[in-house]
Amino acid sequence: MSQSVISYRSGPFATVSMGLPGDHEGKTATRVFFVIGTDKIALIDSGLYAGLPALQQAFEELEIKPGDLDLLLLTHEHMDHVGNNGWLKETTGCTILGHNGRADRVADNMLNAKAIVHAFPEGEHFDLKEEYLDWMGPTEGPIDRFIADGDTIDLGGGVVLETVEVLGHSMAEVGFFEQSTKTLIIADPLLPPFNPVLYLYEEPNVMRATFDKIEKFLVERDVQAVLFAHDEVKTAAETQELVDDCRRRVDTVEASMVTHMKANPGIGFAELRDKCCDDQSMVREWRALVSIDASLKDFQAKGLAEKRGDGWHYVG
Ligand SMILES: [Zn+2]
Repeated sequence: MSQSVISYRSGPFATVSMGLPGDHEGKTATRVFFVIGTDKIALIDSGLYAGLPALQQAFEELEIKPGDLDLLLLTHEHMDHVGNNGWLKETTGCTILGHNGRADRVADNMLNAKAIVHAFPEGEHFDLKEEYLDWMGPTEGPIDRFIADGDTIDLGGGVVLETVEVLGHSMAEVGFFEQSTKTLIIADPLLPPFNPVLYLYEEPNVMRATFDKIEKFLVERDVQAVLFAHDEVKTAAETQELVDDCRRRVDTVEASMVTHMKANPGIGFAELRDKCCDDQSMVREWRALVSIDASLKDFQAKGLAEKRGDGWHYVG
């Protein structure tokens, strides 16, 4: 067999690493997590379609027969987390569990792509296929059952996954806390510092509240290890440092916005995005429009910014 695709194996966990294509190659990967109990086997996220061979190899390496996978648990609806849902559903017959907030997007790849890549006219020049649809397989695997904060999933032998809602990056995101090993599994609320795109958040203050929630959770639940979709496994102390860094990065996006609105009264939405991305040497793309829009709405609600005609003015 070729090189192992299992990047981490401890207790009930086996992490499968999948490289990301294009600009992201080498800088980051996405990971999916097998959680193996005595009664049931779960997989957290299905990854991206280009990672399907790695996922297939993982079943062989772990000696799990596809029909033995019971559950697919989804952290959130983004393309690199649901890309093999269709394949898994067809091959394993697993039950798919996820947050109810974006179930419609999980069930419809085109809707999923349009809702984020083409969320704004300024993003409509991005190619849906290349930017989003190609990351997901030809068929969808819709959510069969909804899970919410605090819900537990007992896999047997003491392995219990507790659902932890972590909103902000997506407004329908959950993580999982495995109670016997005190291991927290989260996908994208804490993005790694080497992420090549502007911090993606849909609501800045909800994002900040989630940073606070994770920080508290680490202490109160005596978390021993944190598994991430796009980063290496970390201790609670290392995760705390990452939380601080994530807070700082969201603050930096907003500080850039204020600077550029003050310097260029009447600045357009796309130009503001470009300048904020340039400040941090980030790719000027559709994800960044989501974050800039979210903070503009928040500034507007607080009376700090106003839209006049086509342009944005700082009035704080
Ligand atoms: Zn995501």
